[in-house]
Amino acid sequence: MIIDCHVHVNQYELTRNVPLLEDRLKMLQTEMISNNIDYSIILSSYKVNAERPSTKQIIDKIKKYDNLGVVAGFTIDNHTDEDLKAYRQFIRDGQIKGLKIYSGYEHYYPYDQRYQKVYDTCIEFGIPAMFHTGDTYSERGKLRYARPLNLDEVAVDNPELKMVLCHLGNPWIQDAQEVIYKNKNVYADVSGLVVGSFDHFFEKMIKDKVAELINYAGEPRYLLYGTDWPISTMDSYLNFVAKLRIKREYRDRFMYKNAKELFKIS
Ligand SMILES: [Zn+2]
Repeated sequence: MIIDCHVHVNQYELTRNVPLLEDRLKMLQTEMISNNIDYSIILSSYKVNAERPSTKQIIDKIKKYDNLGVVAGFTIDNHTDEDLKAYRQFIRDGQIKGLKIYSGYEHYYPYDQRYQKVYDTCIEFGIPAMFHTGDTYSERGKLRYARPLNLDEVAVDNPELKMVLCHLGNPWIQDAQEVIYKNKNVYADVSGLVVGSFDHFFEKMIKDKVAELINYAGEPRYLLYGTDWPISTMDSYLNFVAKLRIKREYRDRFMYKNAKELFKIS
């Protein structure tokens, strides 16, 4: 079994010929089937516009699929208390499986007190908070807010909060590994380490860094498989993770068991 815990259905430059959300969902299904992916989690965006559907639009359109779940983006600037209230009902109904903070894309530190209501909601319902960490796909992003070390603050102050550090904090993977090692409530996904497909040299470089992370932080009870599709391609990602040296027992945890437990996927 494979769970991809990090995909998007926004319309990017890469998918500019696919203006309708329905069609991007069909693309996702085709991609999942051809790569033997059993379940994917769609992360809704930090803003809503013609290219970026709202959490509710995504939830409505995925009802006919039983292999998709949603993690809802929440921002200080583009979301309101009403949005969070609506999210709470979706969480109760099992339609939202986590919340996501877009540090870097949004120019605030993740330990900003204005996010505390998001963390309290996650703790109350026992769902994880995901965080963008590392390089931003947009030049408008500000990197200091996206550095993985910022998450140590949130992890220490919210020991009951389960946190997912997206993208291993790339390129600050060493900082990420310390945050993961030190805080038992911190997980990480390997998504979005490349735009498109890995070439041989880049793949080797990243593979070595992930090996170092696992050596340092211990067997990957904390590691989640995710791609960032359509930004990264699914087949290239499967090739990449096949080359990681992970013991069989932990490979299953990495490829689906950790995510199944964390996001309560039945
Ligand atoms: Zn992403």
